Amino acid sequence: MIDGGGNRRSGRWDRIVLKLSGEAFAGESSYGIDGEIAVQIATEIVKVRSEFAVDVAIVVGGGNIWRGMTGAGAGMDRAQADYMGMLATVINALALQDTLERLGQPTRVQTAIGMAQVAEPYIRRRAVRHLEKGRVVIFAAGTGNPFFTTDTAAALRAVEIEAGVLLKGTHSGTDGIYTADPRADPDAEKLDEVRYLDVLSQGLKAMDSTAVSLCMDNELPIVVFDLMAPGNVLAILDGHSIGTLVS
Ligand code: UDP
Repeated sequence: MIDGGGNRRSGRWDRIVLKLSGEAFAGESSYGIDGEIAVQIATEIVKVRSEFAVDVAIVVGGGNIWRGMTGAGAGMDRAQADYMGMLATVINALALQDTLERLGQPTRVQTAIGMAQVAEPYIRRRAVRHLEKGRVVIFAAGTGNPFFTTDTAAALRAVEIEAGVLLKGTHSGTDGIYTADPRADPDAEKLDEVRYLDVLSQGLKAMDSTAVSLCMDNELPIVVFDLMAPGNVLAILDGHSIGTLVS
């Protein structure tokens, strides 16, 4: 029983926002949704809900389908291309919803762009109520505004619903924040902890600066970790030092 709460441990936080990049869903290929990866990610979320007394909200990206910058780079109007990117996140959200519900986890998708036939509109108080009832809430369509990213949407939603942490899952094999790109620079060192201002001033690859600033201004800690290593979210909630803590 996922929602029973009987033997569930209290973790480090009562409520978390998990940011899943769109590319994580693509698996080995860089495009589309790999069903096995979706099941792997959903299984971890279900385990988190069954083992810990924690509310889980998710923000999904869309980079596996479309990125606004790609269109803008090819001469498209940037805002138009960004709206396409926001719609791409809805496709991932619906796929994740389906996968979670097949595993028995009740969910709701809320979108920042109205599309009443497929999902609820984003309503903060309603999202919080769903979380209190044990549903996983998936936020889609980013912030609803072009020129932003889903990292910023994750920071914004996390602050709005008073989450204790923003867990930013990476998919590219890097397991946290490094002093340089570890795939290009053999001297790159992993940082276990780093201050928001250092991320911003040193241009460290964590999240975009708008997202980091929003977290800094609202004292919301961020954990950047390898999403593809099973058990990482559970270990983070259990208090293990996984990835990089930005605070
Ligand atoms: N996007 C946007 N506003 C937002 C969030 C996303 O315009 O608030 C668009 C933007 O074009 C972005 C695309 O949606 O490239 C997909 O989101 P993102 O790149 O953040 O996805 P991820 O990198 O997490 O897969």
